[in-house]
Amino acid sequence: MKFIDLDTQYRKLKPGIDARIQAVLDQGEYIMGPQVAEFEEKLADYVGVKHAISCANGTDALQLVLMASGVKDGDAVFCPTFTFFATAEAISFVGARPCFVDSDETTFNMSPQSLVQQIQKQIESGLHTPKAIIAVDLFGQPANYPELEEIAKRFDLVLIEDSAQGLGGEISGRKAGSFGDAATTSFFPAKPLGCYGDGGAVFTNDDEYATLVKSLRVHGKGKDKYDNVRIGMNSRLDTIQAAILLEKLAVFPSEVALRNTVAGQYSTKLSDSIKVPIVPEGYLSSWAQYTLTSPDRTLLMAKLKTLGIPSAIYYATCMHQQSAFEDLGYQVGDFPIAERLSNEVFSIPMHPYLQKEDIDQIVSGLL
Ligand SMILES: *Cc1c(COP(=O)(O)O)cnc(C)c1O
Repeated sequence: MKFIDLDTQYRKLKPGIDARIQAVLDQGEYIMGPQVAEFEEKLADYVGVKHAISCANGTDALQLVLMASGVKDGDAVFCPTFTFFATAEAISFVGARPCFVDSDETTFNMSPQSLVQQIQKQIESGLHTPKAIIAVDLFGQPANYPELEEIAKRFDLVLIEDSAQGLGGEISGRKAGSFGDAATTSFFPAKPLGCYGDGGAVFTNDDEYATLVKSLRVHGKGKDKYDNVRIGMNSRLDTIQAAILLEKLAVFPSEVALRNTVAGQYSTKLSDSIKVPIVPEGYLSSWAQYTLTSPDRTLLMAKLKTLGIPSAIYYATCMHQQSAFEDLGYQVGDFPIAERLSNEVFSIPMHPYLQKEDIDQIVSGLL
């Protein structure tokens, strides 16, 4: 059994994907070929924003957004401590200070209460200037944007949505990728919408911001790439990856629906015996991961392993406990909810093509 089954998806989409890759090879425009603009337009339509600007990966997307937002040395940027490293790494990379925030224990996402406490703490210390918030749509579920947008406004902070895992999710019909001042995503193969290599994108409704990100992704270009008006990056989505994503985006809404069917079956069958993930009223998750919480996870994961069922821990180490962030001076106990989650969560197989027999086998392994 596979944790994420990309082979089955490829077999289903093979004629279309193969034809699109061949078309790129025949046409020969490997960098910024016409498929890139076509994909950006369709992706923007899907998410419901004015601009989708593709780039080389989800980490670069975060860096591009931080650069475009003018985040710099001495600024404080708030992000969850319970996330993938890239969220916090991008903050340090642009010279700002990552300020970690505890989690909401029911959704695994950034706790708005903890965010307010951490902002106030920074304001009182006066050492770093609060500048931005990066909220993460962890495991496919959008963060609490109704509250986060209000907090960002109250403290005059830029709000960035890290939707690397969140594409396909919704709050009251509004799609992930459309929240905050700008959003980012990743097309790493295992993400809900993945390509066959690295890829990423930035989303915004602001024309000027979009122009700035487009300049930053090609060496800070002005008129063209040999007219350089600012320091940028080299971060583009390959034409072949855009071609693959065009084919995958067409079936993505139906895949999100299938993931929700799988999650629904898991939750119905498991909720009496183990803590299953909660999706609040009005929210839709794209189920990048289906994540259970148990103090007995070591035992449960070992039992699954003997049955040939893969499982994985996202994430065993909070950001404030990573060696790379040791110099920030955080301590064990600073974020009790996130720390407990990192000790108790584990994820079980999740993809759109998981069969009922597999689900039954996984469930019986956990009961
Ligand atoms: C995967 C991921 C990223 C980084 O995306 P890459 O394309 O791998 O660079 C950033 N943030 C989160 C929350 C992620 O899960």
